[in-house]
Amino acid sequence: MLHFGSVPVPFTASWTSEAAMFIAPCRFARGHEAVCQPSSAGEGKPLFGKPHMVRQRQAMEQGLCDTCGRLLRGRTRVSLSHASLRMNAAEGPAILQVEPLMHRECAALSVRHCPSLKRDIADGKIEIRRVARTRLQFAQLTGDATMEFCGIRRPGVVGHAKIELLAWVDKTLSWLEGA
Ligand SMILES: [Zn+2]
Repeated sequence: MLHFGSVPVPFTASWTSEAAMFIAPCRFARGHEAVCQPSSAGEGKPLFGKPHMVRQRQAMEQGLCDTCGRLLRGRTRVSLSHASLRMNAAEGPAILQVEPLMHRECAALSVRHCPSLKRDIADGKIEIRRVARTRLQFAQLTGDATMEFCGIRRPGVVGHAKIELLAWVDKTLSWLEGA
């Protein structure tokens, strides 16, 4: 995992050297045109609140951990997302989130280092879910959004990937920290 000083930097965080955005076909968006960024993780400063467009889709599409970037397959998968519960007419309650899932120990690492998660814990608002079943989606951007990101109006281009949580179990912080 990359570090900035002593702070671990998540796989999907973007870096200041990667700020440029452009439209190109993306293999992590099933070959469709998508908003892309250059890839130079580790150069410049990390932007914790700004996921890298390509690595975010890669993590979602390949099932990689948001924090360490390694495969989740066969491991406990954890969501710490703030996304709220929605009723999906066909399948019952679901959560649609843009944050990739994490290994349990990587989620535990995140709550130790991430200021916004620490705030959630202090406020009693942290949501910890052990995820059983998901479905992948790709967000299609409006022309205004592509204009904002890339300076060109191109509605329908893919932005972030999203996963819909279809089945999960709520867990406690002590469960997470026992990882
Ligand atoms: Zn991990």
